Amino acid sequence: MAAGRLSVCATPIGNLGDVTVRVLDALRDADVIAAEDTRVTRTLLARYGIETPMRSYHAHNLDARTPELVERIVAGAHVALVSDAGTPGVSDPGAHLVDACIEAGLAVEVLPGPSATITALVASGLPAHAFYFGGFLPRKAGERRTRLEAVAGLDATLVFYESPRRTAAALAAIAEVLPGRQACMARELTKLHEEVARGRIDELAASLAERELKGEVVLLVGPPARGEGEILDIEGIRTRLDALAAEGVKRSDAVKRVAGEFGAPRNDVYRIAHGHE
Ligand code: SAM
Repeated sequence: MAAGRLSVCATPIGNLGDVTVRVLDALRDADVIAAEDTRVTRTLLARYGIETPMRSYHAHNLDARTPELVERIVAGAHVALVSDAGTPGVSDPGAHLVDACIEAGLAVEVLPGPSATITALVASGLPAHAFYFGGFLPRKAGERRTRLEAVAGLDATLVFYESPRRTAAALAAIAEVLPGRQACMARELTKLHEEVARGRIDELAASLAERELKGEVVLLVGPPARGEGEILDIEGIRTRLDALAAEGVKRSDAVKRVAGEFGAPRNDVYRIAHGHE
């Protein structure tokens, strides 16, 4: 029997036309398709007349399914892995099977294609020379703030997946931690109701606060506006540090927060906080 392999297949994030010839060939050729949601994948298969059997593979059954699929590949099967949308392994359970196959020394090939991250990044018009993909933001307000503060100083566009129900709260949190940034909310990309809203984060947060959003959402935040040789707003930073101190925020936390808010290096804010500027 020929050696088995895992083909990681990127599938459309909405528009069923966005699938590569190579992915269709792999889905046709595979002995079984491991699908995050078999109903979603059935639509794609029906569109292209593919009748390969499917096996569900999602967050709630991966402990049992992973060894089963690995064994099938060891025995010579060709397994194709697909997620609900985009590239399996990016913020979905696909990474688990990829890891297990690598661990078992099996052949893994990735068939590239759509990804919500890259589509949203390009549609946003925000700088794409460097970007940070943050997956889903934490649901709890405190953890979300901490996560945002941790990446506030990066000279990169920040990309987050978000549920439509939490989008308004996430935008409000971003507006608080990263004020003044350019931002974007990309929804239902490649679908009928595609929407790409761009603007300054406070304006964007305000304009979306009252709307009941539906569908799939990506949030993006531009890098801090820090021109080469730009002079730090020392007075502004000092005033903000004083305000946070008055609120009872610990000095080390205030330094982190203010560095993010002003897009300033943490060391510089630290020096200001300790009166060395
Ligand atoms: N692996 C996928 C990829 O490569 O794009 C992402 C899987 S993740 C579980 C699903 C998230 O991707 C959604 O919650 C949403 O944030 C984003 N997403 C997927 N399709 C999208 C679309 N058409 N428009 C906007 N965001 C989308």
